[in-house]
Amino acid sequence: MQLSPPNITYSSLLLVAGTACLFVAVAILQSRRNAVGATSLILLLLALAWWDTTYAIFWAGTPGLTKYFWLDITYLGAVSVPTALFVFSMQITNHQGWLKRPFVSLLYLEPILVLTCLFTDAYHGLFFAGRRAENSAVILDAGPVFWLNVVYSYSLILIATILIVRGYLRSSGVYRRQLGVILLGIGFTWLNSIIFILGLNPLPGADNTPFSFTIAAVAFAFAVGKYQLLDLIPVARDILIEKMRDGVLVIDTQTRIVDMNPAAQNLLNINTNMLGRSVEDVIRKWPHYKKDSSNFSQPQIEINLGGRSRKYVDMQVTNILDGKDRDIGRLIILHDITNLKKAQNELRLLANVDSLTGAINRGHFMELAKKEIQRSIRYNRKLSLVLMDMDSFKKINDNYGHASGDQALITLTRICARGTRKMDVFARLGGEEFALLLPETPQEIAAELSERLREVLASSVIHSESFEIKTTISMGVTEFGIQEQDTFEGLFHRADKALYKAKVDGRNCVVMWHKGLG
Ligand code: GH3
Ligand code: MG
Ligand code: MG
Repeated sequence: MQLSPPNITYSSLLLVAGTACLFVAVAILQSRRNAVGATSLILLLLALAWWDTTYAIFWAGTPGLTKYFWLDITYLGAVSVPTALFVFSMQITNHQGWLKRPFVSLLYLEPILVLTCLFTDAYHGLFFAGRRAENSAVILDAGPVFWLNVVYSYSLILIATILIVRGYLRSSGVYRRQLGVILLGIGFTWLNSIIFILGLNPLPGADNTPFSFTIAAVAFAFAVGKYQLLDLIPVARDILIEKMRDGVLVIDTQTRIVDMNPAAQNLLNINTNMLGRSVEDVIRKWPHYKKDSSNFSQPQIEINLGGRSRKYVDMQVTNILDGKDRDIGRLIILHDITNLKKAQNELRLLANVDSLTGAINRGHFMELAKKEIQRSIRYNRKLSLVLMDMDSFKKINDNYGHASGDQALITLTRICARGTRKMDVFARLGGEEFALLLPETPQEIAAELSERLREVLASSVIHSESFEIKTTISMGVTEFGIQEQDTFEGLFHRADKALYKAKVDGRNCVVMWHKGLG
């Protein structure tokens, strides 16, 4: 038996549904206004409240201004529902990016056109084609605009469903539960359509579509209300990235900068004008970048940003993949390690340098000497070593005090630093003993240089406190490779022998090693 108005039971049910929608809409407006999807959900609920209520009034058999008045105005709600639902699905599945004003305006254009056609149907018949049903919106034979609206509405709902199913499949945890509830809601609308198509409508003659959408919308509201914490996540994430001290850059597969946070702008000394430009425009300024890696294949590298800032960053590159594991870009995180680098350099310096004279210390000298020996072997270059020992140094300490002794050590260091080349390595081996390594220098030249240094020191006057001190130095010189199968130890041993000979010979002189010295 076909239902027909007036039917108070059916009308009451619709009224309950409409009132429920109104209540939920007000509740969301009051407490969840800023939640993701809230605006479109409120719109959806209001459209449904309108649809349910006007349809309820129609089913109560209330006379209208015109014959079809109450049925006609149900359409104000009915045509808005698919659009609002579609926008809601976009928002809730993180497709807000699409919802720019022109796109949304376009979405609402269709309902407006359809309503215009509907209310002017008497003049052209494009909507009903003179075949409207007496009692319900269930029309199976109407005009082209009616069918256009059916196709449009179902397309929107279908896309919305696909978005939600996709979102559901890709998400996990709380997100998944929220989308699960939403999916359940939208499932009701499809169930209603299937029941209708199969002719299983429990209330023949009545349209259950507003009910199914009401159930869906209430489910959406439940999901939005229940999983409140979700709206915090995108906001918190944005704040986190904005406030992060690490620089964050997002680039697409064509290396164009898509996004960056203030820290990245600060570190790289760029501004948002760089958005859309290639990251290589920035990277070109990074001198060590190209040397270290010609692309982003290295996931983590240290970069000297150069320029005036002299900043060092630790750059971490992560591939961004979409849901189908397709490469869609890179996330670059720049961690400022300038202070760490400075501290490291200072430490390294402290570990390598003698604190009194500033000359290289014994440990570092030995490292460098080994390297220089390797180099001299590889390139077949001469390499000489001079060992030095201050003469009667004990006496300086005894006669003028320890501070004066220190001053003498500093003076010698200065003389040797001035009198040698950049590539030469001068070191304090300990106490008042020093060494000078001379790459690409035969022992004869090394001896001449030593002689000059000896003379400069001998003729220098060291001013310390009120004393004017004179001191001398003895030196032993030798060259690497002048003995067969020469070694590092052999080189030092010969220089030491020569130095000992200089002391024996009366000090304040330079002795070059020869076989007779053993
Ligand atoms: P020689 O001509 O035989 O080398 O006599 P010398 O007195 O120089 O020999 P010796 O090795 O006996 O004495 C080295 C002295 O150098 C002993 C030590 O007190 C002093 N000395 C070592 N390190 C320092 C230092 O850092 N500062 C000062 N002022 N003296 C130092
Ligand atoms: Mg000594
Ligand atoms: Mg000495």
